[in-house]
Amino acid sequence: MTQEKWGQLRQRLLKTVGQNNFTTWIEPLEFHQLEDGIATFNVPTNFMGNYVSQNFADLILHELRNENSSINRLNFTVAANMSEKPRSMPAKPAAAPRPAPSSALNTAPLDRRFTFDSFVVGKPNELAHAAAKRVAEGGPVTFNPLFLYGGVGLGKTHLMHAIAWELQQTRPDLSVLYLSAEQFMYRFVQALRDRKMMDFKEIFRNVDVLMVDDVQFIAGKDSTQEEFFHTFNALVDQNRQIIISADRAPGEIKDLEDRVKSRLQCGLVVDLHPTDYELRLGILQSKVEQQSKNYPDLSIAPGVLEFLAHRISTNVRVLEGALTRLFAFASLVGREIDMDLTQDCLADVLRASERKITIEEIQRRVSEHYNIRLSDMIGPKRLRSYARPRQVAMYLSKHLTSRSLPEIGRRFGGRDHTTVMHGVRRIEELKVQDGQIAEDLELLRRALEA
Ligand code: ADP
Ligand code: MG
Repeated sequence: MTQEKWGQLRQRLLKTVGQNNFTTWIEPLEFHQLEDGIATFNVPTNFMGNYVSQNFADLILHELRNENSSINRLNFTVAANMSEKPRSMPAKPAAAPRPAPSSALNTAPLDRRFTFDSFVVGKPNELAHAAAKRVAEGGPVTFNPLFLYGGVGLGKTHLMHAIAWELQQTRPDLSVLYLSAEQFMYRFVQALRDRKMMDFKEIFRNVDVLMVDDVQFIAGKDSTQEEFFHTFNALVDQNRQIIISADRAPGEIKDLEDRVKSRLQCGLVVDLHPTDYELRLGILQSKVEQQSKNYPDLSIAPGVLEFLAHRISTNVRVLEGALTRLFAFASLVGREIDMDLTQDCLADVLRASERKITIEEIQRRVSEHYNIRLSDMIGPKRLRSYARPRQVAMYLSKHLTSRSLPEIGRRFGGRDHTTVMHGVRRIEELKVQDGQIAEDLELLRRALEA
């Protein structure tokens, strides 16, 4: 075992534990030495050492033993020279997940940010949220399983953790187990190898609430599926609540046995729809509130959040990442977060999630909306009845495409970029003063984005 080997092993752990856990718990571990089969790691704090040894030790040991089978124990010590580094998540022992009923079972740690309080509810996720809330009450089991599905980054894991946190508060008597399907498989394989299947079955069949995240992972893995099926049935028979997530509906998961599919379908199946503009804006606003605690001096210019909500894809993770980067960048350069900074700082993200709205399309829609000819919108006439729609179209071009002001000017009959800027500003003012304009803009935006 060397430092370098540990570096490589860590990368494998990243895959298993996910980025958040990795950054918080695995990355700060420093390999110190290997002696008498004991691998020692330096950790910044005692709490961290305890937490890691309770929650990740068997995973780490498993990886280490693949490299060097003489390793049979792990030790985490606080090294004198390791100062406590500030971490994004405050590590407060009081709120750490309750250990599972048997010490043989280490639950996947819950992300403390994933609570119902921090989950923003909108049309696309209201059903999933309501169902999760119901399950989190811990009352009699009414639908089993609860099957949540939806695309990447739409909040499945967030909702599952929220259920677990809530149950810990309201029903501390229940034993709640959350893990990814991958971890389920890993434990199963380990139990097989160590001839501990009885223990494995015992643990899984004694939980009150079982949550398995990303169940599509076990598709095609026959013996894991088989075991999952038995676990599932045993729990359902005892009326224990099961919550499952996947990236698609049960029927659409390939290589999943029919009997597993149909069992998964027999509870409540709800999907998280792709986010819409309102939900994205709501999420951004709530994240800004949280971020502002870390960056009390930073301010955001009007329009920036709206712009991001328009322009960034449906994946909330990307949206959050963009915001985090904006705040970090703005605090580094000591500037307000305005449109210029946003465009600079997020050029790559914005390009990647570019909508295919073109200036031509905007011009066509706007001229239809105001009942004027396209040629009059682009042409030189300065009559108010042409100029206003023209400014509206410029404004929309600025906000819904990534074209620069000079480029927009060119498409509007070769106008100067200062003319475009003036038009955009004028509409920004009118949007606040004139309800009709605000309504027009909203209608047009919806039509263009549909
Ligand atoms: P999934 O498991 O569906 O891929 P996650 O639950 O990991 O997605 O969500 C990705 C990120 O987006 C997380 O940081 C989560 O907190 C955030 N997120 C998703 N939906 C919402 C929401 N409705 N409100 C607040 N944050 C959300
Ligand atoms: Mg997830």
